[in-house]
Amino acid sequence: MALRQVAWVTLYLVLVLTPQALLFLGEVPPGRDFWWNFSMALGFAGMAMIGVQFALTARIRPMTAPFGVDIIYLFHRYLAWIALAIVAAHFGILWLWYEDRLGPTINPFEADWELTAGRAALVLFGLAVVTAEWRKLLRLEYGLWRYAHVVLAIFGFGAAVAHIIGIGYFTASPLNRTLWLLATLSWLLLLVWVRLLKPLKQTREPWRVVEVRPGRNDVWTIAIEPDGHAGLRRFLPGQFAWLTLRNSPFGLREHPFSIASAPEALPRLEFGIKELGDFTSRIGEVRPGDPAWIDAPYGVFSIDRQPEAEGLVAIVGGVGITPVMSMLRSLAARGDRRPVWLFYGNKGWDDVAYREELEALQGRLDLRLVHILEEPPEGWTGETGFVTQELLERHLPPAPRPRLHCFLCGPTPMTAAAERALRGMGVPTRSIQTEIFELA
Ligand SMILES: Cc1cc2nc3c(=O)[nH]c(=O)nc-3n(C[C@H](O)[C@H](O)[C@H](O)COP(=O)(O)OP(=O)(O)OC[C@H]3O[C@@H](n4cnc5c(N)ncnc54)[C@H](O)[C@@H]3O)c2cc1C
Repeated sequence: MALRQVAWVTLYLVLVLTPQALLFLGEVPPGRDFWWNFSMALGFAGMAMIGVQFALTARIRPMTAPFGVDIIYLFHRYLAWIALAIVAAHFGILWLWYEDRLGPTINPFEADWELTAGRAALVLFGLAVVTAEWRKLLRLEYGLWRYAHVVLAIFGFGAAVAHIIGIGYFTASPLNRTLWLLATLSWLLLLVWVRLLKPLKQTREPWRVVEVRPGRNDVWTIAIEPDGHAGLRRFLPGQFAWLTLRNSPFGLREHPFSIASAPEALPRLEFGIKELGDFTSRIGEVRPGDPAWIDAPYGVFSIDRQPEAEGLVAIVGGVGITPVMSMLRSLAARGDRRPVWLFYGNKGWDDVAYREELEALQGRLDLRLVHILEEPPEGWTGETGFVTQELLERHLPPAPRPRLHCFLCGPTPMTAAAERALRGMGVPTRSIQTEIFELA
């Protein structure tokens, strides 16, 4: 796994650095000093990075598998800032030391079009990064933001390519022009694949809602089955799917949900969806027979990626139970009797989703179920409050423990506290894994 991670990071560096290295190894246009050429190198490097940004969110499975989609999205987010800083530095150097070359005006109606294209690209990229970083502060609805983000990125990229070709510096020779043409073409192909071919593939493999069931804590069970095809060949318990309901796969309205059912129940898939916002608050309006589309499976949060674990610890809060339900259901289906400790935090006793099923699973698994309630009912003798080291130590075996792998999923304050507690107990970081339900 580590080797595959290193290989992908190396490929990233090659993709970002090779184009400009080739440009500078080719014919360097004469008559310019170091800072000028440095600024050009920054421009090309920033552009190459922005091009690869499209690939990072294209959910290329071999690329996401070694890291997890959440980590790739995190890369995408931080690399966007670096790329923006590099492109801004490209402009800044020219503005500080070569202002005369930037023309007498920035008025787009009077300035050279290729310079206007460059400035427009910088503004569009800036807007894409700022609106992504401060989406909640700006009160941008997620779906609207996602459309805007795609539009800003495509137009920004188009403007930047126009700028490079229009300026023609370093792209005058046939070799360099071919190189840029190829790079631009591969970015365009990526776009066509993500926005057209992938949704097209989904429409060819439709699914149908077969059950809609309300549950505690506003968690609805939505079950789907393939409609006229074999469905998913396999997935690992704990992985997730991008689900489209009540919309077309072309609509950019897909949402990530953990698959709550076990792979052993294929071809049927079940999700536990909590009423929360724009899309999920209307989940109860979904009806059996409605069409559905999925892009799956994704994610690294799975017991099947930890075959050496001698026991499992799950610390979850609220709807964070869903990936763990898949793991427990799968362990039961397989007759796997490894010990499992499930710490399950909820507000009240009536908020405990899957409560009866979990009790029943205790009969089929070596499962110690520890409910932690924030507002316990009268007479409650179980755990209360929040996850602490003392609480975990009360239930987990004392050191030296068997090789345990810990799965954390829930509100960030809870998973952060659980991680601190586990580290305090000497659990190695590599044995603690967190699923983040918020990608952006
Ligand atoms: C790997 C993963 C697994 C998840 N599993 C489950 C699950 O099993 N059950 C469950 O109830 N929830 C799950 N979620 C969370 C679920 O995806 C969001 O709650 C849901 O998308 C919110 O949409 P909304 O329009 O109802 O809410 P909104 O109020 O519009 O959004 C709330 C937040 O959810 C996120 N979000 C909204 N739309 C999307 C989208 N299309 N893509 C990505 N993020 C979005 C944004 O951060 C947003 O701020 C999971 C999330 C991830 C990343």
